[in-house]
Order: sequence, then structure tokens, then C-alpha cells
Amino acid sequence: MINKQEIRILVQGLKMITQQQKWILPISGLNAIITSSSPFFSLYMTALIIDELAYAKRLNWLFFYVILTIVVQLVLHLVTCGLTRIMEIKEEILSKQQDEILMNKAIDMDYEQLCDPKIGNLRRNLEEINTIHGGGLCNLLKQYESIILNISTIIMTTYFTISLFMAYANNQVSGEKGWISFFLMFGSFFLMFTAAISLIKRNSKKLEERQFEQLNQFVLYNRLWSYYSNEYLDTNQAGKDIKIYNQKHLIEEVFNKQRDIKSTFINKVAGYNGYFNGINAGILLLVYGFIYIFTCIQAINGIISIGDIVKYAGSINRFIGGVTALIIAEEKVKKNNKYIELLIEYLNIPQKKEKGAKKIRNDIGGSYRIEFRNVSFHYPESKQYAIKNLSVSINEGEHLAIVGMNGSGKTTFIKLLCRLYNPTAGKILLNGVNITEYEKKEYFKLLSVVFQDYKLFPMSIGQNISGTLKFNSEKAKISLRKAGLGKKLCELQQGVDSILNREYETKGIELSGGESQKLAMARALYKDAPIVILDEPTAALDPIAEYDIYTRFNDFVNEKTAIYISHRLSSCRFCDCILVFDEGKIIQAGKHNMLLKDEGGLYQRLWQAQSQHYF
Ligand code: ADP
Repeated sequence: MINKQEIRILVQGLKMITQQQKWILPISGLNAIITSSSPFFSLYMTALIIDELAYAKRLNWLFFYVILTIVVQLVLHLVTCGLTRIMEIKEEILSKQQDEILMNKAIDMDYEQLCDPKIGNLRRNLEEINTIHGGGLCNLLKQYESIILNISTIIMTTYFTISLFMAYANNQVSGEKGWISFFLMFGSFFLMFTAAISLIKRNSKKLEERQFEQLNQFVLYNRLWSYYSNEYLDTNQAGKDIKIYNQKHLIEEVFNKQRDIKSTFINKVAGYNGYFNGINAGILLLVYGFIYIFTCIQAINGIISIGDIVKYAGSINRFIGGVTALIIAEEKVKKNNKYIELLIEYLNIPQKKEKGAKKIRNDIGGSYRIEFRNVSFHYPESKQYAIKNLSVSINEGEHLAIVGMNGSGKTTFIKLLCRLYNPTAGKILLNGVNITEYEKKEYFKLLSVVFQDYKLFPMSIGQNISGTLKFNSEKAKISLRKAGLGKKLCELQQGVDSILNREYETKGIELSGGESQKLAMARALYKDAPIVILDEPTAALDPIAEYDIYTRFNDFVNEKTAIYISHRLSSCRFCDCILVFDEGKIIQAGKHNMLLKDEGGLYQRLWQAQSQHYF
């Protein structure tokens, strides 16, 4: 039987469905009840018609029964058609709403949690189980409808099951061996039915467990499969690598292996289905056979009429079918509960970060001074410190460059400043107040950041840089020109309304790596936030574009506070101050000329290493 914990999960799942669509459960329940009553009514009327034909033979009654059957069946059919149509639309919406729940949770999650592989895995599992297996809220809705339908069938047919045996008992009890044969007959039916039900229950449980187990193993392979077929092969970049590095055979091998795994999975699942469902059908046939023989003997002995054979045999078979389906539904609910449990676990992941409430503009009136005070940090999955006891102040309007070897902590410094992670020790202050005390959304308003791994949408250029569907076209053009895309803009027929990415829009445009990077910069400029951060913004730019951006640097960021991470030291000469990072610490700080004079210093060594290639 379904236990308390499972009922709790089931109720939580049903609550989630109701939260998404208030009327979906009542409509689905009503549809189930009407659907279950239709065949029952048909059986009842057929029995009346047969008896009328066999015995009374009254034409007017016969005519009335036939018309009544047709009219009621037609009405029931029309109502169920209408309700089914409504349910189809609602189910489709529910499936989208389920995706939306997952998406919103991911969007609202802290960056640190988004990067947590365990949480990422949980999210992917949920998405994949839903796609492959249809698990989730829509599946729960189907189970709910099936449970209501079968309970309603059982209630309607119980009366006929009891009355068949009562008719037998009433007839038999008048004779000498009446009670004995009644109990023998009813007892045999009861024993047979209970044995059949428990066998079917055991089989269904095994079937669902094995299917779930197979499915869980298959999810990982399916992820790899979809990576190769969608993410890898569908990108233009991979197309180049496949040709140059002759990856065809490698990919074919991967595909063949995946195909074998997939067919093994399908074979196993189909095998389990065939085996268990076959046994279940055999068991049910035995019980049905018993009922048919019993009702026919009753009719031969004149205890029931010929029409009653149809009514009783049909009803009892439906009763047996209803109980069996309910038992199978129980196992399906249990299996789907495992998915709902994962969904609840995912949605209940608490937001880890503090929720400061301070408003920024009211608090400090537009002047921004940032201070790192003895900040240390290590990533959650790592014990090694990426930032070690670092202290630095960044004044308003200051243009700061950060340089250093790979892995020296530059990007981590920016992530901490952006509040994507909290320091393990020490504080980051904005005008003397710990940044965690500010409302996060407010704090983000201060920042325009271009990360190395920025993402652009397959939307218009204007929508991309504004982050909204409707945007200020003039402002967008100014930002694009400042970021060095003025010439490109003139070439585009649709200007800022040009759609990016040809994969989703045949008339879309493809930008080069450098152009995309400039677009990401235009996005930062459009936001017009007081602090601009560029994490290696020039990596994909050609030397002329880079020179262009840096010589127009002051115009580019205006009076704003600006922080640059760059590997090209020539670009940093324009900054007020250069911070040299090494192993999570600032080991040198100052202007370009001053740092160059520091004989043997890391900056001088890096400069010499780079200038060697030019001279
Ligand atoms: P840089 O930007 O200077 O190249 P990073 O700030 O990216 O350096 O990295 C600093 C250190 O933190 C490196 O040792 C790197 O391996 C480690 N690191 C970066 N990101 C993560 C992460 N998500 N989880 C664990 N360690 C990380």
C-alpha cells in the first residue's frame, strides 16, 4: 500500500498542479467520472434491450430504450470530447509551466549554487526524466485522472457485483444446500480475485521498479547522445574541427556505442513490459472466465435473465478491470513520486546568500568607493585559496587594470566584487558598508560587466544590448558606435533590429568573435552603470580594434569607475593604476612607468616577455 510519506508527496504534487492552474483537477476529475459512467450506462441499457427482445417484446419500450441509449451516449460523448479538449490544452500549458518552474528556480538561484555540480546534476536529471519518461506534474495529472476514473468505475460496478451474488444467494437459500453453495461460490470468487490482484500488484511493482532503474541508467547516456547530436554537431565551430581533425570516425563510434546502449535499454524495457503485462493479462483472463461461466450457469438455471448476463458479466469485468488498473496506478504514482520528490528537493534548495535590504541610491547618493579589506576566498569544492588576505581600495572614477599569470585570481577577484560569491574571510565594502547589506538587485544595478564567457541571445541586436524586448534605438546605436561597431551597423539593412544567429532565424546575421565581443561591450555601455568591469575584453579583438578601443578608452567609460583584466600589458598603460596579481595576492601596484622601473618585478618580466615579440 501507498505509505504516509508517499501520500504527502502526492498531495504536494497535486498542490503544485493547483497552484499552476486552479481548475485543472476538478475538470480532470469530472472528465474521469463521466468517461467511466458511459460504458456502465451502455451495459445497463443493452441488458434492458436484450430482455425486452427476449421476453416482453414491447415495441414502444424497445424504441424508447434505444432512443434513450443513443441520446444519453451522445450527450456523454459530447461532454467528454469538450472536457478532453480542454484538458489537452491545460496539460500542454502545465508542461510548459513545469519547465518555467525549473527555469525560474535556476534564474533566481545564487550563482554559487548554479555552479554547484550536484545541483546542476539534479536540474539536468529533472529535465531529462521529464523529456524521456514524461515524469512530473503532467504524469501526476494523468495518474490522478486514472485513479478517479477507476474509483468511479469500482463504485458503479460494486452494486452489480454484489447483486449477482445476492441473486444467487436468494435463490439458493430457499433450498437445502443454499448457504453452503453461496459461500462456496462467493468464497471461490473472492479468493481467486484476491490472489489475482496480489499477483498483479507484485508484477506491476517489479515492472515499475525495473523501468525506473533502467531509466536512471539511461539518463546519462541520453545526455551524452543529445550533447553529440544537438550541442556538438549543430554548431558551426564543431563543423571546422570535424573536418580538419577528421573526427568523423570518432563521432561515428560514439554514435554507434550510444545506439547500442539505447537499443539495449529499449529491448530491456520492452521485455519487462511484455513479460509482466503478459502474466497480468493471463491472470485476469482466468478471473474473467470464472465470471462468464458463473453468470451463464445462473442464466441456464433461470436465476438471471439473458440480458443480465451482459449486465453482470460486463459490470463485474469492469469492476475487476477497475481494481486492477487502480493497483497498477498505485505503482505508477509511486514511481512518479520519485520524480516529484526530486522536484520538491530542487525547488526547496534554499537561497544561500544573505538578503540585504539597503537601497543604494538613497544610502550613498551616487558616489562609489569600493574597498577589499583582508579578503580571502576559496571555492566551495576546493580547499585551495584563490584569493589570500587581499586589501585594496578603488576610488570613484578610477581606471584600474589587473594583470597577472593564469590562475592568479583575477577573475575570482571580479566575481567577489560582483557578489557572485561571498568572501570566505574579510569584507568587501561599498562606501564603508559591507556589500552584503545592500539589496542584491540594487547592487547589481551599479555594475556593467563584460565577462570572458558572455552569452548573446538569438534576438535583435537592440534587444541583446538592452536586455528588454522594447528598447531605446538611439541609445543602442550610440552604445554600438562607442564599442566600435558603428561601421558594421551601417552595413546592416535592419540596423539594430537585425536578428543574431542564423540557426533560429534564416535572415539572421552571424557576427565574428571580435564583433560579438564588441556587442557585449555595447551591452555594458547601454546599461550605463557607474562601475564598468571588462574581463579580458580584447581577447577576440584584432590589434587595430584593440588599439582603437584603448585610445578612446576615456570616452568609452567616461567618468565611470572602470576595472580591466587584460593579458596585453600595452593596453594597461592608459590606466590610473595597475594591480599585479600573483597566487591570489596583489604583489605590485602603480602606474605603468613606475612598475616598469621595478627591476626584476613580475610586471617588468611580463612586459619584457611580451615586447620581445614586437621588437
Ligand atoms: P585568473 O582569472 O587569474 O586566470 P581565476 O580567478 O580564474 O584566475 O582562478 C584562480 C584559482 O581558482 C585557480 O587556481 C583556479 O583553478 C581556481 N578556480 C577558478 N574557478 C574555480 C571554480 N569554479 N572552482 C574551483 N576552483 C576554481
